[in-house]
Order: sequence, then structure tokens, then C-alpha cells
Amino acid sequence: MGKEYREELVGVFGDPVDENPTVVVAQKAFETMGIPYRYLTINVHPEDLKAALEGLKAMNFKGMHLTIPHKVAAIPYLDSISEEASIMGAVNTIVNLNGKLYGENTDGKGFMTSVINAGIEVCEKKVTMLGAGGAARAIAVELARAGIGELVIINRSEERGRGLVETLKNHFPDLTVSYRRWNHTMVIDENTNILVNTTDIGLYPHVDARPDIDFNSIHSRMVVCDVIPNHPHTQLLKEAERRQAKTIDGLGMLINQCVESIRYWTGKTAEAEVMKEALAEEYGIDVYY
Ligand code: NDP
Repeated sequence: MGKEYREELVGVFGDPVDENPTVVVAQKAFETMGIPYRYLTINVHPEDLKAALEGLKAMNFKGMHLTIPHKVAAIPYLDSISEEASIMGAVNTIVNLNGKLYGENTDGKGFMTSVINAGIEVCEKKVTMLGAGGAARAIAVELARAGIGELVIINRSEERGRGLVETLKNHFPDLTVSYRRWNHTMVIDENTNILVNTTDIGLYPHVDARPDIDFNSIHSRMVVCDVIPNHPHTQLLKEAERRQAKTIDGLGMLINQCVESIRYWTGKTAEAEVMKEALAEEYGIDVYY
């Protein structure tokens, strides 16, 4: 019997995409799982997206991640998408099901796994969320599906904030959801159980940036979460730790969304801890821990 060289193909389409680190964690996961998968980082210009998606079928890719600027633009070219991705209005994971492309969104699921792994119960809880962009939409939908009691969305642009509130009201009629304008030194409601930053404040290289909130309104009974994946120990999380709040960083979300995508592509569960270590090794422990 000859040796088999063929590998199953997955990867990420983005533009720009050169510095996207997902290949590091995904490839490490496949190696550890002992399965012949190859993760490719592919720059696809927006005008070529349709042809690139057709190419997935022609070359029998198992699936693909989508990142900026394709998460929304790809939807019309897919054969079907999940209900959650449809509510979020964005797809980050494509699965090739026998030549039909199915769209999913694992960002919010990755966030939820981090929260569950930290032992946090979300049912009936009050969540305050900073931001109303793509990450916020993904997280808000999964929190609503998990049965939170109330969601307050604080966003700079009123239009985006109110837009997300309307979407959630339409799909989750039992959820109490409201918009608050982001004022200077915003005070977080005292009865907030979970505070989530979904803005890009603190994203590398602006690692000293901090959201314009009153940090003294954070207290020890709150859980404070951030989505910033690179330099995940953000100023917000440091302020929360100073006030004895429990904190959850964005690194877990990054890894866990990838674990979810790999499960869709392979039917197998990747080891999150090994993936984290791969990132830390690649970039230095102080960046990724
Ligand atoms: P979007 O551009 O869709 O949304 C950005 C949001 O941040 C908007 O609500 C925007 O407000 C707000 N914002 C940006 N700057 C400021 C500021 N100075 N003050 C107040 N609000 C601000 O981006 P995404 O939602 O796609 O990404 C957001 C972050 O989430 C990024 O840092 C990304 O890296 C991270 N992310 C992490 C993931 C993970 O796995 N850990 C997965 C996906 C995303 P406005 O509407 O007013 O412009």
C-alpha cells in the first residue's frame, strides 16, 4: 500500500489576512488530534469572494473561516445558514456539506464556552454590554439563547445600538433589552451581574486604552469580560481585578470559537489548552497570557 499524501483543507478568507494567527492554533489542534487537515490563510479580495466560495466546492474544502470584510458579504452566496447566524447577520464559519455551503457563527458560542468554563451561571442574569458591532451581535444572541434576564447595550453610535436592541426584541420577546447612550465616564448599573466589553478599545497596539466608564461602579459581585484577543489582560480587566471582580479575557473566546469550528469541520473536539500554548509559544507568553 502506498503512502497517503492528500490532506483535508480548511482555512480562513480575509482581506487583509496575513497576520491572522488562527493557523497557529488550528494547525496545532490538528497535529495533536492526529488528523490530516491543513489550515490555509488565504487573502481574498471582496470582488473575488463569490468565485473563492465556488472554489471551496470545486476543491472539496471541508470548510472555511471568514474574517473582515467577508462575514456579512458571504451570506448571499451560501446554500443555507444557521438561525443564529441569520439573526446575527454574520457568518464566521463555513461548512462544506457534500457540496452545499452551510454558514455558522461560532464567535458567540466561543464566548459562552469561556463563561461556562469559568463557572458563571447566566440564566436570568442582568448583562451590560459595551459596543454593538459584530462581536456584540454574536455574543448578545448567544446570551439571549442562554436565557439571560436583561441586557443593557451601551454604544457610542445610537443607530447601531438601537438597531441591535430591535433585532433582539424581534427574536427574543421574553428578553428585557434596552439601549443607553454612552456618556462621559459612564456609570455601570449597580445591579449588573455581567459586564462585557465588545468594543475594540485596548486592541493591540493601543494596549493602554480603556473604555470611558466609571471604574468605581465595578464591584466584587460583578463578572467582567473582555473580547480583546491579543494582549488579553486589558486595562478594563486590570481595573476590575483591583475591585475584586471575577474576570474573563478574550483569549478563551478566540480559542473556543476555533474549537467549535473544528468540531463542525471534523466532528471531533480539539484541545483548547494545547491551542493556547501554541499561541503563547508563537508570540511570547506576555502577549497571549
Ligand atoms: P466592529 O467594528 O463591528 O464594532 C466595534 C464596536 O466598538 C462598535 O460598537 C463601536 O462603536 C465600538 N467602539 C470602537 N471604538 C470605540 C471607542 N473609542 N469608544 C466607544 N466605542 C467604540 O468590530 P467587531 O465587533 O468585529 O470587533 C470588536 C472587537 O472584538 C475587536 O477588538 C475584535 O478583535 C474582537 N473580537 C474578538 C474575538 C475573540 O475571539 N476574542 C472574536 C471577534 C471579535 P460605534 O458603533 O459607535 O462605532
